[in-house]
Amino acid sequence: MGLGIVFGILMSYLGYNDFVTDWISPFGTIFISLLKMIAIPLIVASLIKGISDLEDIAKFSKIGIQTIVIYVITTVIAVSIGLTVVHIINPGNAVSESTIADILDRNGAEADSKISTAAMTKDQGPLQFIEDLVPSNVFGALSDNGSMLKVIFFVVFFGICLLLIKKEHRDPLHNFFVGLNEVILKMVDLIMLYAPYGVFALLANLVVSTTNPDLFIALGMYALTVVLGLLLMLGFYLIIVKTITGRSPGFFFKGIGPAQLVAFSTSSSAATLPVTMERVEEHLGVDEEVASFVCPVGATINMDGTSLYQAVAAVFIAQALGFDLSIGMIATILATSVLASIGSAAVPGAGLIMLIIVLQSINFPADKLAIGIAMVMAVDRPLDMLRTVINISGDATVSMVVAKRVGKLGDPNVKDWDDNYQKG
Ligand code: ASP
Repeated sequence: MGLGIVFGILMSYLGYNDFVTDWISPFGTIFISLLKMIAIPLIVASLIKGISDLEDIAKFSKIGIQTIVIYVITTVIAVSIGLTVVHIINPGNAVSESTIADILDRNGAEADSKISTAAMTKDQGPLQFIEDLVPSNVFGALSDNGSMLKVIFFVVFFGICLLLIKKEHRDPLHNFFVGLNEVILKMVDLIMLYAPYGVFALLANLVVSTTNPDLFIALGMYALTVVLGLLLMLGFYLIIVKTITGRSPGFFFKGIGPAQLVAFSTSSSAATLPVTMERVEEHLGVDEEVASFVCPVGATINMDGTSLYQAVAAVFIAQALGFDLSIGMIATILATSVLASIGSAAVPGAGLIMLIIVLQSINFPADKLAIGIAMVMAVDRPLDMLRTVINISGDATVSMVVAKRVGKLGDPNVKDWDDNYQKG
């Protein structure tokens, strides 16, 4: 990662930006594609194996309900932290008129196109989220990376039905998915050998394609506010991990660190999912039965970093453009940021699109909306990288908490710990 940044700075200084785009960047794209390629097969194999390993369905529903409840609680906490820091620092007051005019000049057109994308999302009805859970064509869902929740729905249904049929029919299928799961995990291992090169290429390309470092300085207070909020959220996870599971911060970082680096480099929780699952199971001690459900669901609906960022960005834009926020509006930002992060896709820049919907929910004037979005867009990529790190760290934390609560948290340093847990 460090070498990629240094190399990118050097190439950009020497004027070799095109060389990096043409000859280095494809290796980063290949890395992301490899990860996305195995994400859906991994969910299918490990979730079916996980569910059919359980002796009864009641156990599974216990895991399911706890997961969703804890995810919602952590997201509400994330938004509350965001709202608190932004109201203490007030970064919007530090932006000058000339900076706003400059930003609008550079990013106005792109901001307009993001607003049209958000309008398409908003046109959907209030129950769209539930409607979206059920696939009408399972092969269609399996072939679309954006349909993770649909795939989870089908796979959970399939796994439950597997438990309901006769043992002699279930066993061959169960063995098949156990084997498939092993193959996919081996693929994750091999892809991770390529990770350093992929990460190098991604970061070198990012550095040469970043054109406006001066805007970053102008919007520094805002960026710092988001970073501070994200750090506080990370601190919150460490406290939770320590108090509920007894694990130290060192243990947590050592376990999840590589996944955090992949999240930082790819800006996508969905692409990072295979690594997150591997680290959570093999290095944080979460049993596969828990991780195979909690991690993919988290990658899709639990985005604490994104929701925190949306809350900070919405208040920042309102402050910078002189739009007074009432208590009711702040409560609306809280509620919509929680919902918007559930609805955000786990891909780069998704949080920014949903931010538009958060702003529209408080009736933010349409003429100022484009200015506001143009402002936060100017520094969005680095903040996206950081919030994606928090998003996957949240998924890992909740996996550990749920595993602890259902007696499925082992010690990866103890040989055969997972076998012992399987046997109860
Ligand atoms: N890039 C984030 C993720 O994949 C979503 C976002 O905040 O834009 O988790």
